[in-house]
Amino acid sequence: MSIGQGRIIKTYNGYYYVDSGTDELVTCKVKGKLKQIRFSLCTGDIVEFETNHNGESMITRILPRRNFMLRPTIANVDLIIVAFACINPDFSYLLADKLLVLAEQAGIPAVICLNKIDLAPAGLVAEIEAVYKRAGYEVYAISAQQGINVGKLKDRLYGKITVFAGPSGVGKSSTLNAIEPGMQLVTGSVSEKIGRGKHTTRFAHLLPFAGGYLADTPGFGNLNLEELDDKKLAACFREFAGFEDGCKFTPCTHTHEPICGVKDALAAGEIAQSRYESYLTILEEIKSKKEKD
Ligand code: GDP
Ligand code: ZN
Repeated sequence: MSIGQGRIIKTYNGYYYVDSGTDELVTCKVKGKLKQIRFSLCTGDIVEFETNHNGESMITRILPRRNFMLRPTIANVDLIIVAFACINPDFSYLLADKLLVLAEQAGIPAVICLNKIDLAPAGLVAEIEAVYKRAGYEVYAISAQQGINVGKLKDRLYGKITVFAGPSGVGKSSTLNAIEPGMQLVTGSVSEKIGRGKHTTRFAHLLPFAGGYLADTPGFGNLNLEELDDKKLAACFREFAGFEDGCKFTPCTHTHEPICGVKDALAAGEIAQSRYESYLTILEEIKSKKEKD
């Protein structure tokens, strides 16, 4: 019997495909008595396995996770690229902020990728960039088509487990191809095209990409922010934290309270209007979902 360690890159029908650093994936099962492990195993997990004399491998242990996301189900992601075009289709502040909230909630670092800068009218890129840099996010303004700044983005994600999240048409496939020619898959829509069919699993797959992995995440488009606790939302707007000292009430919702550091910062231009509006919109969405339940 031998013992090994590796990362689950795919799960299917009770089998777990583990990359242990060799040429071939190790196909693992889980022993009956370790069922409690099976119910919590997911793509991205680092596991230990035993291989018996028949060559059958069994997962025996799951190592602690750095982070975890339920929908899609994936663990230990290094980086979420919040991918948008600055134009065609128009940049959506709300959708970008929702994706950032998801990343914050899961504890996964996120950066913004702003594609199609070759099409942008003067000032637009700087305007979007300013909002997110002030909030504390890195912004990669690129043109996948013309190869502008693609190398910088590649350097940032090299060797990591990366998720590309964003609406269709913004150039995710083009960006992946610019980073690694031949790369085809991304988020739901495209993976459906290549034949996984309409049946979308909520499990992500990891595909070798840029010295690390790309998480191909069916259904990332369904943003389930309603499940977020409204009391935890403000913490997902990272730049708010620095101003909460000025709030009279704790917790403060930063809405109706008369003395509020976040609203003061907004009035002083230290918090972007669009970020605060996204916060209010998402807060309302969470609350109206709660009332329906
Ligand atoms: P996806 O749906 O996010 O994967 O987007 P695609 O990669 O399929 O790109 C959508 C459209 O935008 C295609 O027609 C691309 O040729 C175009 N596109 C992608 N990147 C750029 C870019 O940097 N500049 C311009 N002008 N067009 C781009
Ligand atoms: Zn407040």
